[in-house]
Amino acid sequence: MNVAGEPSFRDSVDLMFKRAAALLDLSPGLQEKIRVCNSTYTVRFGVRLRGEIKTFTGYRSVHSEHMEPVKGGIRYALSVNQDEVEALAALMTYKCALVETPFGGSKGGLCIDPRAWDEHELEQITRRFAYELIKRDLINPAQNVPAPDMGTGEREMAWIADQYKRMNTTDINGNACVTGKPVNSGGIQGRTEATGRGVQFALREFFRHPEDAQKAGLSGDLDGKRIVVQGLGNVGYYAAKFLSEEDGAKVIAVIERDGALIDEGGLDIESIKQWMAGSNGLLAGYPKGKFMADGGAALELACDILIPAAMEGVIHLGNAERIKAPLIIEAANGPITFGADEILRRKGAVIIPDMFANAGGVTVSYFEWVKNLSHIRFGRMQRRQEEGRHELLVQELERLSADKQLGWTLSPGFKTKYLRGAGELELVRSGLDDTMRAAYQAMRDVWHGRQDVEDLRVAAYIVSIGRIAAAYRSKGL
Ligand code: NAD
Repeated sequence: MNVAGEPSFRDSVDLMFKRAAALLDLSPGLQEKIRVCNSTYTVRFGVRLRGEIKTFTGYRSVHSEHMEPVKGGIRYALSVNQDEVEALAALMTYKCALVETPFGGSKGGLCIDPRAWDEHELEQITRRFAYELIKRDLINPAQNVPAPDMGTGEREMAWIADQYKRMNTTDINGNACVTGKPVNSGGIQGRTEATGRGVQFALREFFRHPEDAQKAGLSGDLDGKRIVVQGLGNVGYYAAKFLSEEDGAKVIAVIERDGALIDEGGLDIESIKQWMAGSNGLLAGYPKGKFMADGGAALELACDILIPAAMEGVIHLGNAERIKAPLIIEAANGPITFGADEILRRKGAVIIPDMFANAGGVTVSYFEWVKNLSHIRFGRMQRRQEEGRHELLVQELERLSADKQLGWTLSPGFKTKYLRGAGELELVRSGLDDTMRAAYQAMRDVWHGRQDVEDLRVAAYIVSIGRIAAAYRSKGL
């Protein structure tokens, strides 16, 4: 996607790292140690499909092992290559440190167009790829724990978990070898939606600070904000759905592979998603809104918030000048190149950086990993006990009111909400919200507290690099 003359994705991440590291008091040696990718394993394997042996190329990069296990998704796309996987692994290291999930950074990828294969074939390919990684401990509950990314989802994660358990029959923690599994196979409630939900929580937290919104020339909350979303996959779909259905925002354009749908009155995300399910993922032909075949041009529409949620490098030197959104939240990893980032900052745009914006996925993956290791669903022990205590209080208030003839009545809405103990989904959402708020606060303290920090990306890197450096120092490095 990058235009000629721009650095590669990995170089772009490195340049962003260096911009922040230059403001920190770190020895050059430690800086280098944090920046470099520790290792990348490349595997080529064959699978007999459609009467012949097909060879596939896959990667698993481990960027940093300052904490283990290392964590990061597995991507299925034809564009996967070593540079991309290493860039994504580095972002995972910085992201995990920023949101305080106790992991190092990793990433995997397979060069494949998942739409070119049927389900049974994909299962054979996935199991074989997993086998290659498992036998080298590149998938392992204690060392390296993948998750979904572009082109993969809970189905692939279930195959990987099953493959691991077949190869490690006595590992009682086998389910923790991968996250993003279906709930009925060791997954956790709220994981599928987690990254999109995290984008929503990130934006809510941003608008809780009027001075921050003011920097983007915006005010108020999300209600009525005009949003453009690129990519209606896992991340973009849930982000767009929640923001429009729960926060009153208006999604005025969605951009997909074949073009963009535009409607100033606001698009119905659920209905578009259903349309895409029956149209092989295409937007063209959707009966409402205006279809525009040049999807890229829709990134340049005037709006309040731009949410690139598809892939890296979509905002580059070639189009950055024309981007009008005053607030961009990087739901995808690396959607803005290093050069474009500079142009946008010069124009005064506020960018909520990827390592924070899309950290909801790894946060809830962390909860899933902990659930798998503890072998018990969150809330199972406390829920009814909590409900019982609330019930006692409500009964006591009602008794007091009756005894003293006070005429108090608790509203039915209050009673229903108050009496309900938190189940797994409520706890996951609460943990995610808390994580996103705390990470934003940490970034914000640096953004507002240091004269030499002008944007949230540098602030995020500073928080993150500081924590990784502390972890290395405490190991005596
Ligand atoms: P996905 O495969 O579910 O969805 C990607 C969507 O983008 C698809 O609908 C695809 O058709 C669309 N798309 C692809 N290329 C496009 C283009 N050039 N223009 C417009 N649309 C295009 O992937 P995802 O899991 O939603 O991941 C999207 C991004 O979010 C990636 O950068 C990924 O690394 C990042 N991310 C994902 C997660 C997660 O939990 N899935 C977590 C953190 C970050």
